[in-house]
Parts: sequence; C-alpha cells; structure tokens
Amino acid sequence: MNTYQQYINGEFRNADSNEQFAVINPFTEKIIAMAPKGGKHDAELALEAASVAQKEWAAKSCIERAGFLKKMAEVIRENREMLARTLAEEQAKIFPLAQVEIDATAEYFDYYAGWARKYEGEVIESDRTNENILLYRQPIGVVVGICPWNFPFFVMARKVAPSILTGCTIVLKPSSETPNTTFEFAKLVSSIGLPNGVLNFVSGGGSTLGDALVRSSQVGLVTLTGSVETGQRIIASTAENITKTSLELGGKAPVIICADCDMDMAVKAVVDSRIIFSGQVCNCAERVYVEAPVYDEFMDKVTRAMAAVAYGDPFADPAPNMSCQINSAQLTKIEGMVAKALEEGAEVLVGGSRCEDQPTGFFYKPTLLASCTQDMEIIRKEIFGPVLPVVKVTDFDEALNMANDCEFGLTSSIFTNNISKMMRAINELKFGETYVNREHFEAIQGFHAGWRKSGIGGADGKHGLYEYLQTHVAYIQY
Ligand code: NAP
Repeated sequence: MNTYQQYINGEFRNADSNEQFAVINPFTEKIIAMAPKGGKHDAELALEAASVAQKEWAAKSCIERAGFLKKMAEVIRENREMLARTLAEEQAKIFPLAQVEIDATAEYFDYYAGWARKYEGEVIESDRTNENILLYRQPIGVVVGICPWNFPFFVMARKVAPSILTGCTIVLKPSSETPNTTFEFAKLVSSIGLPNGVLNFVSGGGSTLGDALVRSSQVGLVTLTGSVETGQRIIASTAENITKTSLELGGKAPVIICADCDMDMAVKAVVDSRIIFSGQVCNCAERVYVEAPVYDEFMDKVTRAMAAVAYGDPFADPAPNMSCQINSAQLTKIEGMVAKALEEGAEVLVGGSRCEDQPTGFFYKPTLLASCTQDMEIIRKEIFGPVLPVVKVTDFDEALNMANDCEFGLTSSIFTNNISKMMRAINELKFGETYVNREHFEAIQGFHAGWRKSGIGGADGKHGLYEYLQTHVAYIQY
C-alpha cells in the first residue's frame, strides 16, 4: 500500500494536521493507499509558494517553459504501464482504457508545448496620429485546478499544461476518490528541474481544502471540472474576490437517431458511448430520441448490443467492456434513478439491477430502458452510469425540441445521412458540441465548453489556452 505526500514548493510533505484519508479500489473494495488530508493551512502554503514562483516563471521565455511540458510528456511515456496500473486500480477503469488515458495525457502536454511559438498579441489601429495600441496576452497568475474522479490524469493535464505554458503557476487538488495518479506524477515531475512552486499538488476535502483554495485573493483563475453543485458552490466562494472561473460541469447528452441513418453504426456508437468507463463520462450518450419509423429496429438491435456488454475485473485479459462504478454512493444513486423511472412508467429491456454475480465491486448491470418520456427524471438528470433510456419521437422537430429541453448543454449527437437534418441539428442544438455520425469524444485541438448549467469557459485548443491569459492594452503616443 502506498502512502502519499503533498507536493508543495518542490518538497514532499504530510498534511499540516498529519491526517490522512484512505483511497479504495472500487473493484476489490480494499484500501490501496493513504493520502494527506490537507486543510486551510496546506492551501495557504501551496498558494504562497505558487505566488512567489509566478513572477520569475512568467519572465522565462515561452519556449523554455514549453520544454518542461515536453519533459512531462516524456516521463509519462517512460512510466506508461505503472501510471495506467495506478489509474485502473484507483477507479476501476478497464486497463486498456487506462492506457488510452495515459497516452492521451502525454499527447496533451506535447500539444500545448507546440503553442509556445504560436500564441500572439495584437496591434490595434489607433484614432490618433503617432500612436500605437498594443494588446498583450499575459498570464492570469496563480491557477487553482480542482479535478473530478472520472479522468483524474487527463483532466490534471488539461489544467497543468496551459498553466505552465502561459507562465502561470498552479495549485491542483485531485478528487478525494482518485489522488494516486496525481501523486505518482508529482514524483516523476520532481526530477525534471521545474522551479519550486510552479506546480503544487495538495489533497483533501472539497469543502475544506478545496474551498480554502478557491476563496483566496491570491488566485487569478479557478478551473473546476466536476458537478453542477460544486460549480455553484465555487461561484459563491469566488464571488468575494470576483475571481475568474472556468467550469466544466455535468451533461445530459441527447442522441438523435434519424430514420435514414446507418443503423448498425449508430447502435454500436451509442452503446460504446454509454458503457465506456461504466457510463461515468460527462459527454456520453445519456438519452436517446428515435424517429418512430425505425424505433422497433433500433430497439431490437440495441437490446442485443446492451445484453452482450461484458463486465468484470478491469485487469482481465481479454478485457471486459466495462467494470464497476466508482463507489457505493454512485451505485445507490443509479439504483434509485432506475427505480424511479420504473415507477414513472419506463420498462427494463436489459439489466435493471446490481450485478449479483460479482463477489466484490460496485457493479450495476448494463441497462436499457424503453417507454421513457420527456418528463421523467431519468431523461432530465445526469445518470453517470451504464443506463440508456430511450424515447420514441414522432418526427425530427420533436427530437430537436426534446433534446434542447434540458438544463445541461455539454454535448449532443445525431445519426443521419440527410444533409438538411444534419445542418439543422448543428444550427439548432443548443450544446457546446455536436457529434455527427460518431461517438462522443472531443479532440485536444477543439474546444470543450458547455452551455447553460454545463459550465462557463472551456478547455482545449486555442480557446482553452486563452482562459489562462489576460489581456493588457498599452497606448503608446510618440
Ligand atoms: P464533484 O463531486 O463536483 O467533485 C469535483 C471536485 O470538486 C473534487 O475534487 C471535489 O473534492 C471538489 N470539491 C467539492 N466541493 C468543493 C468546494 N466547495 N470547493 C472546492 N472544491 C470542491 O464531481 P465528481 O463527482 O468528482 O465528478 C463527476 C462530475 O464531473 C459529473 O457531474 C461529470 O459530468 C463532471 N465532469 C465534467 C467534465 C466536463 O468536461 N464537463 C469532465 C469530467 C467530469 P472532493 O473529491 O474532496 O469532494
């Protein structure tokens, strides 16, 4: 069993209180590590280190800072198997998917290293003679990154990479469910020569350590990936200092299945999307609207595909399609939502219960629900589990209206070969992303940003980088 320490100002140290909390492997239900239970004082220490380091860090050339991102990518690749194993153990992600996350994280650091010579300021035309107006893009200062448990390694990079490149320093708090990969990364990064205080990792409770971090007046940007409820709390906690927030929150992604689509491709994409990482992905198919003429065909094929989903040990070879949920609270939540859907008139076609055949682990069966209607909780609230509710719609307009009738606005998708429906969906769906004839996954050069309660600001690509920069306009009369 590992015992981790916080990484503050280039040093490994216990929490100020000397307290720790246990990290559980959701598949074995055994304790696999102890992590520091940091609090207010740890937040202050880490923020102070980040504030002191920021000025000198920002004064380095961007290409020099980018060199550290390349080194981070390198150490991740050199330790791929260890990191993937740690990730799979702390959150029951199937091992091949954990490897994909580690690879994508290394690629993410490389991608942002490539921006070193690319981001630019502007020269603006003046109304006066003999005047130049220059717009600089300068680092926003100290960043606080707050991470969720579902992609702890990749989301860590989403916050660390743009911070390092732009000359910000960062204090990052992993989820209390999954601190292990972050602290393994801290050990690797401690040997690449990064100046002290540029990168700091602290662990502890969201409402204690997390709240102390986001409330501080030393912070330029708070970037959270997490639930809507935590986003709302962070907006309240940052109000006093009017601190900028970038919030990537929950989703309730609609899928529209049109009568003309390639049905086999659509069924495969929807099922893959729903069961990847046991349904615990923010942008994956959460509700399906099927045009009436193909409803029976879709239900027949999707029933067979969901029934064939294999679940089990994340390290089994060959790997199952999915493993278990992150914890018992998540399992209970899914169970409650399915029970309510049945009370409200839904029908179970596949699954619909815990997996009694698994001796350990928080398993819920891959589940398909028919006869769902727009007013049901299962269609309106995020499930975050391997449960696929389906609604039959009379026509395309009804599908669009129902898809948009939602408090979330993260991602959406449509399966069609009809160019008019495709273009109407792209223009009329009120979501940050729409996937056409493919599963739900974004590119690192895109922009992952939700509408409505799914968030403020966003991550990835050029626009994600600009979240970490603030403008400074100089008026130069000569
Ligand atoms: P969560 O419960 O909101 O926790 C996220 C992080 O916030 C954790 O590190 C948590 O700490 C911390 N936190 C909680 N309360 C806080 C407070 N008052 N101040 C500061 N920090 C606080 O979310 P989760 O259950 O880990 O993640 C699942 C959610 O994230 C889902 O809703 C999913 O859709 C969303 N998500 C969104 C995206 C996206 O890109 N839009 C990506 C991935 C996940 P503790 O762990 O110590 O409680």
